[in-house]
Amino acid sequence: MTSATLGLPGAALAAVDIAQPAETRRNITVTAAPTHSNIVAMTFDDGPHPKHTPLLLDILKARRIRATFYLIGRNVARYPDIVKRMVDEGHEIGNHTWRHPFLTSLGNTSVLRELDRTSEAVYKAVQRIPVTMRPPYGALSGRQRTLIHTERDMPTILWSVDPEDWRRPGSDVVASRIVDRSHAGAIILSHDIHAPTVRAMPTALDGVLDRGYRFTTVSMILGHRDWTKLRWRLPQADTATG
Ligand SMILES: [Zn+2]
Repeated sequence: MTSATLGLPGAALAAVDIAQPAETRRNITVTAAPTHSNIVAMTFDDGPHPKHTPLLLDILKARRIRATFYLIGRNVARYPDIVKRMVDEGHEIGNHTWRHPFLTSLGNTSVLRELDRTSEAVYKAVQRIPVTMRPPYGALSGRQRTLIHTERDMPTILWSVDPEDWRRPGSDVVASRIVDRSHAGAIILSHDIHAPTVRAMPTALDGVLDRGYRFTTVSMILGHRDWTKLRWRLPQADTATG
């Protein structure tokens, strides 16, 4: 693809039409995957963090585990090399807004702008855009979820396992909560901006593997193709809202 150097403006980027399978568009909100297979999706929010995220990537790489990162757009703009490493190592990038606001307090234009600025930054870093989003604090009204689904074709991804690592309960507690609560189709929430969370990961990941689960990305646990393998149609540019 030759669009990497085009410097697409946000509005044009928002109009990029991703050829997703039809079933993607049926998912407006996802908390877990409807599967009986022993697969789970590990997700990390709020990065990239210049110190903790590379350590986490080392931990994942050593286990050949693919995760999904819900990135904050302004962090993407600051650390594009880390985002590139994520993609090079098989991880999926999701959209976690530009500046991590409570979206429920924003109007439609601002909500879409938060997403578009982030997708644009991800596109600049890795020449792909996220195909799912996660709202900061999990806060997004039903009406807003439908708006994002309709306007940007992105399902809202929540989670079914929350170790509450942001409360800093300690690495051992984070690890045991993740291991004990994992289930078929689980989408597991964590934050790679916290050092204790990253320190918990070797024990957490090995524990989940020992229980017989495999890790995959959010798109793939939902039965879709690898997000990096999706075909792209370049923007026609002028129809974006926002
Ligand atoms: Zn967040």
